[in-house]
Amino acid sequence: MRPEPDTLVVGAGTAGCVVAARLSADAAHAVLVLEAGPVWATPAQAPPGLLDAATLPLDPAAPWLRHYPAVLGYADGAPVAATLVRGAVLGGSGAVNGAYFIRPPAADLAAWSAQVGAATWSAAALAPTFAAIEHDLDFGAAPWHGTDGPIPVRRPAAPDDPFTAAALAAGFPAVPDWNAPDAPATGVGPVPCSLDGTLRADTGSRYLLPALHGPNLTLRGETPVTGLLVEHGRVAGVRTETETIRAGRVVLCAGAIESATLLLRSGIGPPDELRAAGIEPVLAAPVGQHCADHPEIGLDYRATGNRPGAVALETVLELDGVEVRPYALEFAPGVRRIGVALMRPATTGVLRLRAADPRVPPVIEHNHLAAATDRLAVLDGLGIAAELLSGMAGAELSAQPPAAAGLPAVLTTSQHLAGSCRMGGQDDNHAVVDRMGRLHGLDDLWIADLSIVPVPLSRGPQAMVVALAELIARGMRG
Ligand SMILES: Cc1cc2nc3c(=O)[nH]c(=O)nc-3n(C[C@H](O)[C@H](O)[C@H](O)COP(=O)(O)OP(=O)(O)OC[C@H]3O[C@@H](n4cnc5c(N)ncnc54)[C@H](O)[C@@H]3O)c2cc1C
Repeated sequence: MRPEPDTLVVGAGTAGCVVAARLSADAAHAVLVLEAGPVWATPAQAPPGLLDAATLPLDPAAPWLRHYPAVLGYADGAPVAATLVRGAVLGGSGAVNGAYFIRPPAADLAAWSAQVGAATWSAAALAPTFAAIEHDLDFGAAPWHGTDGPIPVRRPAAPDDPFTAAALAAGFPAVPDWNAPDAPATGVGPVPCSLDGTLRADTGSRYLLPALHGPNLTLRGETPVTGLLVEHGRVAGVRTETETIRAGRVVLCAGAIESATLLLRSGIGPPDELRAAGIEPVLAAPVGQHCADHPEIGLDYRATGNRPGAVALETVLELDGVEVRPYALEFAPGVRRIGVALMRPATTGVLRLRAADPRVPPVIEHNHLAAATDRLAVLDGLGIAAELLSGMAGAELSAQPPAAAGLPAVLTTSQHLAGSCRMGGQDDNHAVVDRMGRLHGLDDLWIADLSIVPVPLSRGPQAMVVALAELIARGMRG
């Protein structure tokens, strides 16, 4: 029989790789990581299809993806369906993502700190962590940057980018470094990216694989966890399809969809919903009740002489709550897209179980654009994007931007679902975990992934997830 690990990490994704690497740095501490998807032991064994950051490896048949049906919103009362995609592989969604690596602005972190009643998650408290994560190849000398962290960061945008030129000509300020503490809420600038040359630099390759040499860290792939083992007021381990594995403590890093789903399948969630799915409640908790995401609407245009991008999004225009994304990918031959994403939507969505069977995906309903303020913010953003396009030489809109009533029908998603197991105090009826990721109500279970973020983030979540995992691992080390 294998000895019981001190810590069992569920999911070797963006957060899980950081948590496992940091906890196993103590040689006396045994860490076991169970990952649902494929894994490998050295960088040379990584599937070549995952590496090049210029393409998103999202072929529906790819063995490293998991898909989930979702309803983004309603158009004339009819659901707008979409398929969510997640990386199910070493590195998780970070192994298949766009490599955009921007820290959240201080205002988001102030709202987060207010939500949990402590400065733990303020910009000032997180600044050393963000610096320690990165090796910034452009601005490493700046005091707010790092040069010896695991994640290489650089900005591949070309200086003659036509979108940037149009935005500057329209009067938007230039922002050379979105990760600077004084970066404005509005402006245009190159996207800092987690890039090792032209390759995606995810936490699988940059944190977990370098730590795997030690005897106290074990990684098992193709091992989906199906539920938690709850005994005598504590989480004592996990169940897989074939075995029960006990551990001193468990850290869920399965991502915002699967961490919530695992809690629900284990009887931790809203009791009525659990009973309706045929599950006996173990602990009442608002799991899946307040999910956030970044709804997006695209403007397609034809342009001549498109230069291939180094990443999907090389430059970005921020409009304080709306992100305008001039993608550097072709969506069809000769067709490019500007995405207009709502970063702080007024409404939230829900995730709940359809059935107890782990093979049945959960119900995910986003409820996007239900608020008039959100529709107005998107319309403003679309108007600005269309105006900038008209100033870009050789660019021609494929269709006029939709009017307010037509917005829901053309909704898409940024793939950033968050907040399904929110952080907050014991008296916060939206909270599932405390401010260091520990489950309210049962011992020995932590959650350390995007599911616990309690406020909308005005930027893509990847950089924040890495920092979050660093901070929770530090708290767990004591
Ligand atoms: C296509 C795409 C593009 C994106 N682009 C960007 C971008 O450019 N910039 C940005 O900031 N954000 C981007 N994001 C979002 C960002 O990558 C994610 O929010 C972030 O990686 C989430 O980290 P996580 O640790 O919470 O989850 P993940 O990285 O998704 O990790 C979860 C891991 O847990 C594993 N797992 C799940 N269930 C189980 C189970 N039951 N048992 C065992 N293991 C399990 C999964 O296989 C996976 O490896 C993108 C997301 C997607 C999907």
